[in-house]
Amino acid sequence: MPPHPETFKNFIAGEWRAPLTGEHFENRNPADWNDLIGLFPRSGPADVARAVESARRGFERWSRTPAPLRGQVLLRVGQLLAERKEAIARAMTREMGKVLAETRGDVQEGIDTAFYAATEGRRLFGRVVPSELRSKWAMSYRRPIGVAGLITPFNFPLAIPAWKAFPALLCGNAVIFKPAEDVPHTAHLLVEVLLEAGLPPDVIQLVHGPGSVVGRTMVEHPDVPVISFTGSTETGAVIGATCGRMHKRLSLEMGGKNAVIVMPDADLELALDGVLWGAFGTTGQRCTATSRLILHEQIHDRFLRMVCERAERLRLGPGLDERTEVGPLIHEEARNKVASYVGIAREEGATVAIGGEAPGGQALECGWFFRPTVLAGVTPGMRVEQEEIFGPVLSVIRVASLDAAIRVNNDVPYGLSSALYTSDLTTAFRAMTDLDTGITYVNAPTIGAEAHLPFGGVKQTGNGHREGGWEVYDFYSETKVVYVDYSGTLQRAQIDTYSAE
Ligand code: NAD
Repeated sequence: MPPHPETFKNFIAGEWRAPLTGEHFENRNPADWNDLIGLFPRSGPADVARAVESARRGFERWSRTPAPLRGQVLLRVGQLLAERKEAIARAMTREMGKVLAETRGDVQEGIDTAFYAATEGRRLFGRVVPSELRSKWAMSYRRPIGVAGLITPFNFPLAIPAWKAFPALLCGNAVIFKPAEDVPHTAHLLVEVLLEAGLPPDVIQLVHGPGSVVGRTMVEHPDVPVISFTGSTETGAVIGATCGRMHKRLSLEMGGKNAVIVMPDADLELALDGVLWGAFGTTGQRCTATSRLILHEQIHDRFLRMVCERAERLRLGPGLDERTEVGPLIHEEARNKVASYVGIAREEGATVAIGGEAPGGQALECGWFFRPTVLAGVTPGMRVEQEEIFGPVLSVIRVASLDAAIRVNNDVPYGLSSALYTSDLTTAFRAMTDLDTGITYVNAPTIGAEAHLPFGGVKQTGNGHREGGWEVYDFYSETKVVYVDYSGTLQRAQIDTYSAE
């Protein structure tokens, strides 16, 4: 008999509580579906309502706590995450599959984000600007907003919640956290850290459960004025419609169809390392994953051969095995989706150069593995060139010039990241200027964000906000303007004017 699985709880109103629905769902290891990690609450609308009530109380208190003191809590959060980095990374790999080096990196992003937030507690700058009237001061400062509802995807189970929760908290908001159903354990470990770091209990709520119930109830709740969502463009559109109707502040970070361009003057070995890491790291399940490779015709055949030779040798396996280079996909539906796109590619006239199927052999038969896949002969406009596949699939497109490469890069609905390999300065600057994405990398792959820089995309990838860096603090705070007139007379702005004597 396998050991009885642990039953986890929500964190609502200052306590770990079973869901009012009394229902739970299973969390299983995608590299071995016989490995049951635990049972997690399948919460309902009543759990969300309770969380909102508690978060409102938390907000009353936390919003009055001086920002530098809020920063102290986040400093402690960073320290605790650093102490627990290995344990959290292992739990994360077990529940979502990516290799340990990557889950360690995921926790490190959380640590960096916490330390950045801690220092922001002593900045949160407002402005004092000259008034147009005499004996009058004009200034702006940042205020907390209220309860922030955070909805996160499965692929960065700690980093993305940290990107949202830490600045939201530092700005003085209370948080309700709804993690993806595939990664509830990492969410649980993160909330434990926040509480141990000294966050007052009502300030953070963790509500597990399906997006269509828990996420939706939170988005529709009138007392949750701020929603931050990262996930698919389809889900983001539904959330956006509700938030638009209810006039909520909303940050959307959604899908991508990112490309690497390789020019004939590039260092091809360097480009090769970058393409393999960008396309097959996280099993292609990154919003910034390299899913298109745009090759100049002069190096097309040679570079395609190089990619296929190396990609075919990548070692698939469970992420907890240090020798593994590519872990499993997140679940059965994801693998079916990837397989269906391989079929679509064939129907559209592309060639499966390598991969295109699940691996054989007993060792991997209980996980959602899929072989690294390279599609050759892809042309602009094909579905595999336009749509997000979110798996280890690289579509290779041949172009005749830099202009054509830029056109192909830009002619998709998404605009998250792009990359270009070249040794020519002019080409690099053309790319920086003309590639229509939120992030462009020169001589580096499409992935690899740093915590202290803004992160986000254009077009269908986002709605203009950014995570990370300094910009996210604008999202989680409201600007208030204050005028102080000490002239002792009525001065009318725009009406009373004076000469500059
Ligand atoms: P998803 O859209 O299926 O789910 C994301 C979250 O939304 C989950 O917590 C889910 O429970 C919740 N949800 C689902 N339906 C909802 C609804 N009706 N109302 C409210 N919440 C709902 O995405 P996923 O499969 O977990 O993640 C993969 C997607 O995320 C990809 O498209 C990827 O590109 C995107 N992503 C984007 C970024 C970025 O920064 N741009 C980063 C990581 C992932």
